[in-house]
Amino acid sequence: MLLGSGELGKEVIIALQRLGVEVIAVDRYAHAPGQQVAHHARVINMADAQALRQLVDAERPHLIVPEIEAIATQALADIEQAGLAEVIPTARAAQLTMNREGIRRLAAETLRLPTSPYAFADSREALQAAIDARIGYPCVVKPVMSSSGKGQSKLDGPEDVGPAWDYAMRGARVGQGRVIVEGFVRFDYEITLLTVRAKGESGAVETFYCEPIGHVQVKGDYVESWQPQPMSERALERARAMAKAVTDNLGGRGIFGVECFVKGDDVWFSEVSPRPHDTGMVTMVSQRQSEFELHARAILGLPVDVRLRSPGASAVIYGGIDAEGIGFEGVDAALAVPESEIRLFGKPVSYARRRMGVALATGETIEQARSRAAAAASRVRPVAP
Ligand code: AMP
Repeated sequence: MLLGSGELGKEVIIALQRLGVEVIAVDRYAHAPGQQVAHHARVINMADAQALRQLVDAERPHLIVPEIEAIATQALADIEQAGLAEVIPTARAAQLTMNREGIRRLAAETLRLPTSPYAFADSREALQAAIDARIGYPCVVKPVMSSSGKGQSKLDGPEDVGPAWDYAMRGARVGQGRVIVEGFVRFDYEITLLTVRAKGESGAVETFYCEPIGHVQVKGDYVESWQPQPMSERALERARAMAKAVTDNLGGRGIFGVECFVKGDDVWFSEVSPRPHDTGMVTMVSQRQSEFELHARAILGLPVDVRLRSPGASAVIYGGIDAEGIGFEGVDAALAVPESEIRLFGKPVSYARRRMGVALATGETIEQARSRAAAAASRVRPVAP
């Protein structure tokens, strides 16, 4: 049972289906991308603990695979505790990562990993006080419950605090009223280190690392990624050690997207998703086994191969318009770009800044792959029906 059936869930489902697994795709709205390729589709509010429990009691899945953060994670913990189903990777991982506070405190305070300086605040006044006392400017404010840059802003001075607080309150998912403020890290680049906990040759769970993925974020949302991101040996070692510490602690089997900031040989832990990562869509062309296939294999207890196949890149295709049932022009021109592919997710409703598809490309170099992916993405034009 996939909890969340967006573009990432859709690819996990396809990978599972290829291994003969029966899949129930759950989402908050009908005809979500993953529901279009699953055996069964169910529509519920996954943040509603009772609705979630009822569905699991009715369907009795063997595995529950969360694809999103906004889930009633206490219900998952109860389900795991009762032995009703196995939660991937663990209910505790889903609980800790649904809220920025849980994972930040684990990483910084329990595991003592380097992170940006941070504080939590429940009001505009507390936010101002935390910035004045400890964090300073520039800094970044984010709702503790949000993703993809929703409600996130960068603050350069006291005049930005009020608007940042208001914006965070509008962008927050649930549990309104709490934000994290982080000191702004002037990194050289940022990476996603896809880390897989899967059964190794010994039969025990081992840790495998994909090549690092570099990416560009605009307003907290990813627009472009590539693999491999060149790194110094020291920085790569440090990033892997952090990924190991966090994923060992979260446990279970599956893929994790470990996000780090890098400056020279210095690495800061930023956050982790206990599931495939949006910047990892590039692996559909750059690796022998994509992050989705790796997730499927890991959760089924099958062997994994994390090797790179070719330098590759991805570029996001945005909706551009607010409309239902949109079409796309220029797909032929996009696919005329050498070594390119596109994925159109099939989302029933488009918004200007909604991710509706992605262009992928390989190349002899990262630069070539990036320019091909960008060219392919730019040729696809969403059009109203
Ligand atoms: P997040 O939702 O926490 O992954 O943040 C989205 C993006 O915002 C990151 O990938 C960074 O590009 C940027 N960002 C977030 N926090 C910081 C920070 N403390 N310093 C600098 N950039 C940040």
